[in-house]
Amino acid sequence: MPSPFSPSYDVIVTGSGPGGASVARTLAAAGARVLVLERGSAAPVSGTLGQMASMAAVPGRGAFLHRDASLLVRGLTAGGSSTINFATAASPPAAVFAALGIDLADDERALRAELPLGPLPDDLVGPMARRLMEAAQSLGLGWHKLDKMIRPAQCRTGCWRCVYGCPFGAKWTARDFLDEACRHGAQLVADARVERVLVEGGRAVGVAVLHGGSLHTVRAGTVVLAAGGIGSPRLLHRSGLALAAVPFFSDPVIAVMGSVDGRVGNIQGGGAEVPMAAGMALPEEGISFADLTLPRPMYQAFAAQVGRFDRLAAHARTLSVMVKIGDEKGGGVGPRWVDKKLSRTDRMRLKQGVNVARGILQEAGAAHIFGSWHFAAHPGGTAPIGTSVDANLQTTTPGLYVCDAAVLPAPWGLPPTLTLLCLGRRLGRHLATGGGALGAAVTSAAGAA
Ligand SMILES: Cc1cc2nc3c(=O)[nH]c(=O)nc-3n(C[C@H](O)[C@H](O)[C@H](O)COP(=O)(O)OP(=O)(O)OC[C@H]3O[C@@H](n4cnc5c(N)ncnc54)[C@H](O)[C@@H]3O)c2cc1C
Repeated sequence: MPSPFSPSYDVIVTGSGPGGASVARTLAAAGARVLVLERGSAAPVSGTLGQMASMAAVPGRGAFLHRDASLLVRGLTAGGSSTINFATAASPPAAVFAALGIDLADDERALRAELPLGPLPDDLVGPMARRLMEAAQSLGLGWHKLDKMIRPAQCRTGCWRCVYGCPFGAKWTARDFLDEACRHGAQLVADARVERVLVEGGRAVGVAVLHGGSLHTVRAGTVVLAAGGIGSPRLLHRSGLALAAVPFFSDPVIAVMGSVDGRVGNIQGGGAEVPMAAGMALPEEGISFADLTLPRPMYQAFAAQVGRFDRLAAHARTLSVMVKIGDEKGGGVGPRWVDKKLSRTDRMRLKQGVNVARGILQEAGAAHIFGSWHFAAHPGGTAPIGTSVDANLQTTTPGLYVCDAAVLPAPWGLPPTLTLLCLGRRLGRHLATGGGALGAAVTSAAGAA
C-alpha cells in the first residue's frame, strides 16, 4: 500500500476526540499543514449496538474491567468518545483554571455561539426524564434541564441511539470539527496507530505510526498528543518521556433504577429517549445527578451484573437516575492495563448520592429500586496541567503538547467535552499566533492565501 503521508507537516495531532479535533480545526483554519492520526475507524456512524461495541466494548481496547469488577469505557473511533457520549455540556470550572493561570472565557463564548448547545425543547425531553424532573422538583431539589450538544431539528423522540452513535446527525460530535479541519486542508488518516513520539536533539520532530501493516515515520515541527486520558500517557511512556504507570480519575457513576407501574408516559413503551436531559449538581459534595435512560441491552447488562435477573424484563418501565462523583486520583494507567479502586471518600460520596437518587425514585412512584455496580467513562488527569504540561499544554520536551482529558486537573466530576474543546481552541490559537516555526509557517501561509 503506498504511503498516504507527505514528507512533513507543520503539526501532527494524534487522536481525534474533542481535544484533538478542536486544536486541528483551529490550526487548519489558520493555514497550518495539519495531519490528524486516528487509531480508530472513520466509517460513518450507523447507530447500531454492534458498531458501538466495536468502538467501546472490546476488552483492553475500548473497555477495561478493573479488579473490583467496575468497567471503564472509551471510544476508539474518529471523534473519540464524543461519538458515543451522552452529549451533555458543562462550562469549564473557571476557578480551577484561573488557579493555573488559564482563562477559557473567550474560547467558551466563541464555541457556545457556534455549537448546537442548549437545553432540549420540551418535546424532546422524554417521559422518564420528565417524571424524574417533576419528582425531584417536588422534593425541592434544583433539578433543571441540562445543556445538550444536540440539534433539536434533527433529533427525534422515542430514540435511544445517542450512546450507539447518532446516525441522524442530531448529536454534535468531534467528527463535526474533524470535517471542518479537513475542509480547511487538514489530512485525516484513520486506522493509524501512533507508536511513539520521535525526539531529536531534545525536541519533538514527528511520530512513528503503524498504518496499513507498516510502520511509518512522519515528521512535523509540532506534535500534539490528543489520544485521550488513557492513550496519551501511554504514548509519553512509550516515547521514554513519562513513568510506566500514572494515577487517574474517572468520574465513577452508579445508575440507580426503579420500575413504575403501567406506561411511563405517552409514548409506546418507555426506555427510548435522550439521556441526561435534566439533572442537578451538588458541587460542595462533588456529586451530580441526571436522568439516565439507557438502551435495553445496556440496562440488562447492568441489572445482570448485580444479580437483578428479576428486573431484566422491566426496561420499558424502569426510571434510572445517574449518580456521578468527582473521584480522588488513584490506581494506574499502565502500558497494557488500567486499574483503579474507589477510595473510602469516593464510596461515601457515592452512597450519599445513591440515597438522594432513591428518594427521587420513590417520589416518582418507583419500586424495586436497585443500584448498578459503578462504572466510568471519563478517564483523565494522567498528564495534568501544572505537573506534566505547562499552562500552554507544552510538555518539558519542546514542540510536544498534550491536549485531551489527560491534562485536566483532578478531581473533575463534570462532563469534560466543552472544556476540552476550549483547551483545543486555545492551544490552536497559541500555536498559530505564537512565535517559533509554526507561528511563522502559519503567518506565511496566511500571507500567500
Ligand atoms: C458512554 C460515554 C458517555 C459520555 N457522556 C459524556 C457527556 O454527556 N458529556 C461529556 O462532556 N462527556 C461525556 N463523555 C466523556 C467525553 O466524551 C470524553 O471525556 C471526551 O471525549 C474525551 O476527549 P479527549 O479529547 O480526551 O479524547 P477521546 O475522546 O478519548 O479521544 C481520543 C482519541 O485518540 C485515539 N487514540 C488513542 N490512542 C491512539 C494512538 N496511539 N494513535 C492514534 N490515535 C489514538 C482514540 O481512538 C480516540 O479517537 C462520555 C463518554 C462515554 C464513553
